[in-house]
Parts: sequence; structure tokens; C-alpha cells
Amino acid sequence: PETKLPKVGTTIFTVMSQLAMEHGAVNLGQGFPDFDVPARLVEALARAMREGKNQYAPMTGLPVLRQAIADKTERCYGYRPHVDAEVTVVSGASEAIFDAIAAVVRAGDEVIVLDPCYDCYEPAIDLAGGVAVHVALDPVTFAPDWAAIRAAVTPKTRLLMINSPHNPSGAMFSADDIVQLTALLRDTGIYLLSDEVYEHIVFDGARHESVLRYPELRERAFVVSSFGKTYHCTGWKVGYCIAPAALSAELRKVHQYNTFCTFTPAQAAFAEMIEAEPEHYETLGAFYQEKRDRFREQLLTTRLKPLPVPGGYFQLVDYSAVSDLDDVEFCRWLTVEKGVAAIPLSPFHAAPPKGQRLVRLCFAKNEGTLDAAIARLQAL
Ligand code: PMP
Ligand code: GLN
Repeated sequence: PETKLPKVGTTIFTVMSQLAMEHGAVNLGQGFPDFDVPARLVEALARAMREGKNQYAPMTGLPVLRQAIADKTERCYGYRPHVDAEVTVVSGASEAIFDAIAAVVRAGDEVIVLDPCYDCYEPAIDLAGGVAVHVALDPVTFAPDWAAIRAAVTPKTRLLMINSPHNPSGAMFSADDIVQLTALLRDTGIYLLSDEVYEHIVFDGARHESVLRYPELRERAFVVSSFGKTYHCTGWKVGYCIAPAALSAELRKVHQYNTFCTFTPAQAAFAEMIEAEPEHYETLGAFYQEKRDRFREQLLTTRLKPLPVPGGYFQLVDYSAVSDLDDVEFCRWLTVEKGVAAIPLSPFHAAPPKGQRLVRLCFAKNEGTLDAAIARLQAL
């Protein structure tokens, strides 16, 4: 049959996790924690199921959860989205991204994405009949090149997608980036999709520049987050989108026929958790910073060179002192021969920078897991 996604194969995350399993490698590839979900959250989930909260939730999400999301957003970013009109609970950030793109991108519309970018963006654009226009981030700092982004804007540009803290690099938008972004979008009809799934994982006292802080940006934006990252439960697949009423209405038209609604017991559990333990997300940065610092110190005892990690739970390392293989081959070799799974960067790029020797390691792991990986990496 004529396929709609001819360039798409199996995602690199699935490929590397499978390879890790086959070869008994320590899996620092696919991004997921290997430690427990907060006890209260598990208890609340079980209780919700016992109490019979097992049927369809309202299409837009349980009111108590939308309320909790609005409360949390106001506490964090000084802006309270309208609980009914502007907050939609979805089945993971992936669903929100897909819904938003399907809702606004028309055949022939251009969508600017900043490479390297998360792998689900482009297929969603393709399925909508849009055209992904790739603009490279700085290959060393992963900062946006605003002149290049401006040069990529055409009358067909419909949407700009951003991601801070960034997967795979951990780079974060600065206050100046927000100024540049605001100037770029002013007086255009371009929508913004801000992927903020790592919003609470920021380090060294930095401030997460959520688009929700800025009225001029948020009036044209879909802001997407994921409880999977914040509550160590990537397998629960619950996220949300905050957008102005008119944009939320469009997103909901897709959401209601895509999934209709999201796992009800988890929604009840997150509502309780957000209100009862705000310190969980307030201290998440410190929790991960300790892991980051320890892991980086250990990496200095290997021939891998760690790049800076301002946010998120991924560490990029330069392996050029170890190998001349390209990144995909290097990750395969590292997994099969050396027993540590990593993620290559080239699948995040339309055109990977020539000669780049970087791979991504996930440090959302117990100390024992990271120690076992380091012992193997020291032998490189
Ligand atoms: N965006 C980014 C940048 C991500 O890293 C992820 C998770 N890997 C997602 C979106 C998807 O999140 P979810 O699992 O909630 O769908
Ligand atoms: N977001 C995760 C990562 O970047 C992977 C999610 C997935 O496997 N699709 O590793």
C-alpha cells in the first residue's frame, strides 16, 4: 500500500530498549526512571479504583484535576488558566502534541521545529499534511539561533514548536530567548507549541521560562506538560495542555475523537497528589540535581566528556576520545559489546551535524544502576 509515513521506522527508544534487554545491558537509553512512584500517589490510585472511579472521565478531564493544574500553574508561573475553558487532560504529552498539530496545521502549512527535536513532532506534522521546516539549534550550546528562525518564517508558517528544558540536550530558554521569541511572533498569526514536560527538572537555581508567564506568548500557545516526568510514572501516560479557550476548543475536537478521555483513577490520584504534596514538584530539581552532579563526577573518571546539563534528566557525552563510529553504530556497539545502552542524537535531526560524536545517557536512575553503568564505561 502507499504509506503515509514512508520515512518512519520503529522509534530509536524502542530499538535501544529492546537491544538493551537482549544483551543484558544497563539501560540509560530510553528516558524513564527506575525508582518508585511517590507512595501517596500509588495509594491514591488504588483508592480511586476501589472507590469505583473506573468509568469514563469527562472528556476534558476530571474537574478536581483541572482545578489542581490551575492551582499549580498559578503557584509556579503567576497565571491562573480558566479551569473549564483552558485546561485539558490528555493521555500523555504525546497526545497533546498530536492533537494540537492535527487541530491547527492544514495541508501545505509550514511548522518550524528546532533540531535536534523529540521524535514525535515531525510524523504528526506529516500526517496533518504540513511541512516540517527544520532549523538547527547551536550544535554546542543547543541555544536557538533567532536569526535563522526568523529567516525560516514564510507566509505559510502556521506553528513554531519549542521545547525547554530540552530533550535531548537539557538546554533551557533564557529570558533573552523569550524576548526574541516574542518579537518574532508579534504581529504574525503563528501559533506556538511549547513542550514543557521537564518544567520542574531545572538546576542551579535557574528559572524555567514557561510560556505561561508571558501574556503575549500564551495567547497564541499550546503549553504541554506530562505527569510522567514529574511523578516518575512514564507508563501512566497522563499529561495536559493549557491553551486559550479558542485553541483549547480546537484541541478538544481532536482529543474527543482520538482518545475521548484519559485513565480516570490516575486523574483522581494526581489531583490529590498535586494539592497535598506541592513540595514534590518544588523539590524535583534538587532531587535530580544530586543525581546529575554525582553522575557527572563519575563520568570524569571515564573517557566520555560530559556536556553541561541545565535541566531535564539527560546527560549528553562526547565519545570522540573513545571511538570514530557514527552515533548509531556507537550506541549499538556500546550496548552489545560494553553493556550500556545510550541514545544516538542523529534520529533527533533531519540533517545531523557532520562528525558530531554525541550520545544521550538518562540519569533518572537509582545510584546502583548508575554505578553499574559507570563501572562498564570506565572500561572503555
Ligand atoms: N516531549 C518530550 C520532549 C519528551 O521527552 C517526552 C517524553 N519522552 C514527551 C514529549 C512525551 O511525553 P508523554 O510520555 O507524557 O507522552
Ligand atoms: N521521552 C522518552 C525519551 O526521550 C522516550 C519516550 C518513548 O519511548 N517514546 O527517552
